[in-house]
Formats: sequence, C-alpha cells, structure tokens
Amino acid sequence: MPKGIGVSEGYGIGTAVVLKENSLDYSAVTFTSAEEEKARLHDAVEQFKAETLKIADQLKKTAGEKEAEIMNGHIEMISDPYMVQQMEENIDGGCIAEAAVDTVCTMFHDMFAGSGDELLMQRASDVNDIRDGLLGILLGVHSVSIADAPAGSILIAGDFTPSMTGQINPENVAGIVAEIGGFTSHSAILARTMSVPAVLSVPEATSTIPDGATLILDGSAGTVIVDPDPETLEKYKKRQEEYLEEKEKLKKFLHEPTVTADGEKRAIYCNIGKPEDARMADASGCEGIGLFRTEFLFMGRDSEPSEDEQYEAYSSVAKVMGDREVIIRTLDIGGDKEIPYLSIEKEDNPFLGHRAIRYCLDNRTLFKRQLRALLRAGVDGNIKIMLPLITCVEEVEEAKKLLAECENELEQEGTAYRDVPVGIMVETPSAAILSDELAKVSAFFSIGTNDLTGYIMCADRGNPAVASLYDPTRPAVLRAIKQTIQNAKTAGIPVGMCGEAAADPRLIPDLLKWGLDEFSVSPSSVLRTRAVIAENPGK
Ligand code: PEP
Ligand code: MG
Repeated sequence: MPKGIGVSEGYGIGTAVVLKENSLDYSAVTFTSAEEEKARLHDAVEQFKAETLKIADQLKKTAGEKEAEIMNGHIEMISDPYMVQQMEENIDGGCIAEAAVDTVCTMFHDMFAGSGDELLMQRASDVNDIRDGLLGILLGVHSVSIADAPAGSILIAGDFTPSMTGQINPENVAGIVAEIGGFTSHSAILARTMSVPAVLSVPEATSTIPDGATLILDGSAGTVIVDPDPETLEKYKKRQEEYLEEKEKLKKFLHEPTVTADGEKRAIYCNIGKPEDARMADASGCEGIGLFRTEFLFMGRDSEPSEDEQYEAYSSVAKVMGDREVIIRTLDIGGDKEIPYLSIEKEDNPFLGHRAIRYCLDNRTLFKRQLRALLRAGVDGNIKIMLPLITCVEEVEEAKKLLAECENELEQEGTAYRDVPVGIMVETPSAAILSDELAKVSAFFSIGTNDLTGYIMCADRGNPAVASLYDPTRPAVLRAIKQTIQNAKTAGIPVGMCGEAAADPRLIPDLLKWGLDEFSVSPSSVLRTRAVIAENPGK
C-alpha cells in the first residue's frame, strides 16, 4: 500500500487521474515534405478548434460565460489567417510543423508580453496555451487539465505547484496525491483551505498508481489504497461517514464566540490564498481573515496583475468579511514560490535569499502598485497590511515610507483610500529576538511558525529526512513564540499566529496561557480549534 504524509484530513474515495508531465520536445521529429507538414499543421489546427469548442461549451455550463469566453478567444486567435500563414512560411523554409508552431507562437507571445498594454499582455498567455495545445496534438501527447477534472477525481502528480493547486475545483476533486511535499508545503496548505483530503511524499505515485484505478485516500494516516476489495471499500465508506458526522457535531461551534474554559475571549481567523476562498472562510465561522497570501494572485499567469485587478481582489475579500478584520500579506515570493515573469534571479540558497519584503523593497514600482491597491481597498472594509519575512526595524520603516508616498499620490489624484494599519509577520529568528523593538513600529504581530520553525531548527519544511527536527513543539521554537507574545503584550499590540501550529492541539494550551489573541487557521480547522480552546483555560 503506497504511504506518504497525510496533510489534509478526510477520506477521499474516487478515481485516479494521473497528471504526467507531457514532454513537448519535438527534436526527434523529422521533416517529410512541405505539403505533408502543412497538412499535419491544418489537421492539428482543426482538431484544436474542435476540442477547444467542446471545452468552451463545458465551461459555459460549469464555470460560466466569462471562462468560456477565454476558450473562444483561443479559437478566434488561431482562426486568424495571418498566424497560420506565418507558420506555413516557416514550413516552406524547411521547418517541421512543430517547429513552425513553436516559432510563430513564441514570436507572438514575446510581442504581446513586451507590449506594455495590459490587454495584449494577457493575450500572451493565450498564445502559450495555443502553442502547447497544438504541439500536444502534433506529438500525440494530450495533457489533462486540472480545472476540468471530472467529479470524483483523485489527482496524482509528481508535485503540485501552487499554481496547479490553485486550479483545483474542490467540488470535483475528491483528493490529491503527490510524490513530494510535507505538512506545511503550499500545496498542503491550499488542500486544507479547500478541505480536499491530501497525501504527499508518496514515492513514485505517478508511475505506480494506474490512471483510472479506484482509490481510497486517508488524509490523516497518509495512506493510499489502490483498487480496494469490496470489504475495504465498505470499511472506508463507513469511516468517511463517521468523519463527516464528527464534522457535523462540531457545527454547534459555528455561531459561537471563541472563549476559553475560564471565559476569556480569543478569536479564530482564517488563512486564505485566493479571493474566492473568502466565501469558504466566511462559511467556516471564522471571526476574520488572519492571512491572505497575495502571491497566489501573481501565480499561474504571464504578467503581473494590474493595480485595478489587485484592488478588485482585495476589496472583494474585504466586502465579504464586512466589519471583520482582513489581514492581507504583501507579496511573499521567492523560496519555493516562483513567478517566472518577475525574473527572480537564481540563487544558491533561495530560502535565505532575495525574497518577500527584500524583493519588494528593491522592486518599488511593483510594490507600490500593491500598496496603492491595498490602500484603496481599505475604503471597502477592515483591512490591515502585513509585511512578510521581516528581519529588522529598517525594513518596516522603509515599507512605511513607501506607503506614505502612495498615500500622497492617491491624495493628489483625488482617489479614495484609507490609512491602513501595518503589522508584521514574525517568522524569522531575528524578528522573534528583536520583537521588543519591532513592536514599537508595528500595529500587530502574526507569528509565522511555518518559516520560524524551519529557520530556527535549520530544517527544510518539505524534506522528510529532517521532519523530526522540523517541529514547532521543539523548545527553541516555543521559547521564540513565548517571547514574541510577551513582547507584543508589553507593547500593547495584538498578536496572532497564522502558521499551521495555530491549529495544533499540542500547542494550543500554551498559546492560550501565554496570551495569544488570534489563531489563524485553515477554514476546515476553525471549529475544531474553537472546540479545543473551549476545553482549555486562558490563564
Ligand atoms: C509562515 O511562515 O508561518 C506562514 C504563515 O507563511 P507561509 O507558510 O506562506 O510561508
Ligand atoms: Mg512564511
């Protein structure tokens, strides 16, 4: 039985959909004749149009007109005679159909991407999709689209990059399995946000689990059962029922306030990755958003989201939450979160490198676009800004200076905005050690135990070989957490925790005693965390 790390609880029972990376390498294909290559090209274009039309029809039913329009846009683009004519000219010059498609699409892509026009820049990613689609047809390797996975799918992949996980439709996906990743890797965090059972670090999952097999996934035990016998299937269906019943029981905490056994008021917030998650968070019974990871807005696309697009995203979350606080973290990229179009330099040690606030402070135009969008969205709700990976007071001061510049600009333009409080993530040893100083320049703290644990213990969060060291209950991590909470209390600022440890029942009793105000967890953990708090004293 394949075994891995259970990272998102629940039982997934469904059909395996193996996502193999299709190689679009055409170096082994040889030129036949110009006529034949052109015929291959035309057949591929026709097939591409027919398939795309089918997907557009399907999307119209499942996702709506807007999504379907994108697919229709692909058909329109490839129907433009100029594009195909260019490909034919390449074939006349001795190219195989694959090379002609690749060259012409890449040329259009580069032209659109470098245009500086927002609409044209968006078309650059459409051209990429057309190129990959045509190459897939020419080479006979069809790719499975994650967004279109049929109901009851259990997705199996080598790795789920954050942008892949972002495409998952939780209504259709019964579970996910990957060959790498751990409890705090971003695919795990997103799976928990969507309440999709997940097992990661299953060796050779894509080569040993057959596509189409019936699977049972235990998202707590980390097991995967392939083609179970009828008895096992029944047993797990029963477990799944019981699990869902327990979830049902926890619902009594849904509209209750978060209070300790001795009557102290605390709060449970939610961590989200996409604006659409706000609805799920709202339904979970949380009292605010403790971490909106904005980097996901920047992923899975070919160009940066504009200020207006960002404003819409932040504002939509603020509106869903009404009076409740929404803590939005500024762009936290680098490390394991790559964004190709931002051309982040390759580094020997990306986790100790030019990432998060460091990158933003050195790329001011990009950072200011985000800050302006956040200030504008401040008008629509109760927004707070949170700075990631802070290591010193100067970084906070520098960011605040930029924020003041943005306020001035908005003021002069006559654009509506609101002065938004700025707090920091305490997720580096330096920030925890300096938390007394940092408290003087921060409106609030949120302890990021995912990174804090890794940096204090010098243990990578995704590496199973050092998993026993990567543990937030290690004394050094606990001391850092306690000291940070105490320094926040002394300074009189609120302190929360948005790392995964906030939902860890082993830690909650101490966190309550030390005075943690706010626990920010995945939507699926809200009620259980509230239940654990209700059982423990606050003093
Ligand atoms: C953390 O480091 O604890 C955190 C919440 O941030 P992320 O997991 O996005 O790095
Ligand atoms: Mg972090």
